[in-house]
Amino acid sequence: MKKADVIPIAAVIAAAVIIALVFVPKQADTVRITCENAVYEYPIGENRRVELTENGVSLTVLIENGRVSVEKSTCRDQICVHTHTGSIICMPARVVITVEDGEYDHVAG
Ligand SMILES: [Zn+2]
Repeated sequence: MKKADVIPIAAVIAAAVIIALVFVPKQADTVRITCENAVYEYPIGENRRVELTENGVSLTVLIENGRVSVEKSTCRDQICVHTHTGSIICMPARVVITVEDGEYDHVAG
């Protein structure tokens, strides 16, 4: 490979890295609600309520002011309702709520 071929490729990779760093702001965080048969994603910057029913448990997920919480749930243990940091897990509903940091460098599997 000639040197003239290498430089443009390096420039493209460098540009891609810069674009990724500049145009993927931290505010692009995503709330991911993982259910048994589906995954829902919402931007954490938009306030909303998400109602869902899984395995006979009705959950109301509240996204407000950049935070996510379970406002109410009909599950037995109510652990999800009392979880305010990190991942929220509702075992009876088999629902996991996580906040993704908007970076797409995760390795699948
Ligand atoms: Zn629960």
